[in-house]
Amino acid sequence: MNTQALPSQSGDFPAWYGEVVRRAGLAESSAVRGAMVIKPYGYAIWEAIQRELDDRIKATGHENYYFPLFVPESVLAQEANLVEGFAPEVAVVTEAGGKELEERLAVRPTSEALIWSTYARWVQSYRDLPLLYNQWANCVRWELRPRLFLRTSEFLWQEGHTAHETADEAVAEALTILHDVYADTIESVLAIPVLRGRKSESERFPGAVDTYTLEALMRDGKALQAATSHFLGQGFARAFDVRFTGRDGSEQYPHATSWGATTRLVGGLVMAHGDERGLRLPPRVAPVQVVIVPIVREDDRAAVLDAAGRAADELRSAGVRVQVDDREEHRPGFKFNEWELKGVPLRVELGGRDLAAGTVTVARRDDGEKTQLPLSRMTAGIDELLTDIQVSLFASARDERDGRTLRAPADYGELIDHVRDAGGFVEARWCGRSECEARVKEDSSATIRCLPLDQPARSDGACISCGRSATTTAVWAQAY
Ligand SMILES: [Zn+2]
Repeated sequence: MNTQALPSQSGDFPAWYGEVVRRAGLAESSAVRGAMVIKPYGYAIWEAIQRELDDRIKATGHENYYFPLFVPESVLAQEANLVEGFAPEVAVVTEAGGKELEERLAVRPTSEALIWSTYARWVQSYRDLPLLYNQWANCVRWELRPRLFLRTSEFLWQEGHTAHETADEAVAEALTILHDVYADTIESVLAIPVLRGRKSESERFPGAVDTYTLEALMRDGKALQAATSHFLGQGFARAFDVRFTGRDGSEQYPHATSWGATTRLVGGLVMAHGDERGLRLPPRVAPVQVVIVPIVREDDRAAVLDAAGRAADELRSAGVRVQVDDREEHRPGFKFNEWELKGVPLRVELGGRDLAAGTVTVARRDDGEKTQLPLSRMTAGIDELLTDIQVSLFASARDERDGRTLRAPADYGELIDHVRDAGGFVEARWCGRSECEARVKEDSSATIRCLPLDQPARSDGACISCGRSATTTAVWAQAY
């Protein structure tokens, strides 16, 4: 491991982020510009996120399936919004098997087109609905300015694609996914608080009637779109000629949703919780929750290592993900730094003196606090500490976000000052006109992150930009 100090988080956030991702062993660049290698430690975090999402996707009544990576260009071309929305980012295969293809194949930027062209065969009657499906896949959107996890030309994700009899049902589906699958995972597992809202028209998914989003605040004051869920209306059904016979015998088009969460959540985890020493992982998503570092001398090596092994067995059988760092080539101080960089929630120090006293020393990664636990109640004590760290990380991320949120700025200038310095979120009244949205972007590069689902009760007030009467409250921020 590189033993040089990390770049300062407060001084150079992008450099800090890149170094933490590399040195903690999450990911690295590859021979393909813009596509990353996800290393075992980073992939273990993704697998934990994947399991949590997948459990919730299934608990809300969905099944997984798998569609091909390639989409014939003619199929993609059937939905005009998709073509327009993704044109600059689509990679195309023109040659295979040693010759030019008769039809060029797009590498999926998303799978609506191929899936809806298939649903045309699957849906005939209202009895065939709803279709509640999801797939775990990779997709490709060519990135000109790639950043590990945050913007990569190839990324991993899940994409849900559902079809419903009525618009109400489809909207309810999009919101169930937003709340019960995404927000629940991100808040209770990743310990990242999110704002729940809908996107303004300019920020919607191509072809969506409504895009629902979760917006999180990173420690540099920029927002990260954590997951989105779209109500697509009947546009995809019309484009791909998916029709069914309704309960009254009439021919109808089903209503669609799609929803996705990607590997960028791993980047969000780094940026929402990390500090000057590196990652701070919430226990529920940490590949290693507890690391035991034996502190050995020549005369007690065997006894200490033996005790460390027994402590690990005890924790493991209680369901704790634990590792013993018994590498002989490194000193304890080096190991402490490395596990801190990797964000392991708890470190157990175990030496001859502890053994004699019947205790262990436990150090928390989140606040650095150390406690002594009697060996006899080590497992119970560690369980309590892990629970407390999970709660504390969420609370401190929420406090930090709230402290960086400016509500009801006095005037347009105050809004711009706050977002331009990446000070966090600004909540202000908006008239709903794209001119005002564009003006803020021009003056500060901030965008409307969402129109919160929980709108303040007041419906009066003037647009922060033009002074006309406002129709909604919007949240602005610079974003990744
Ligand atoms: Zn306005």
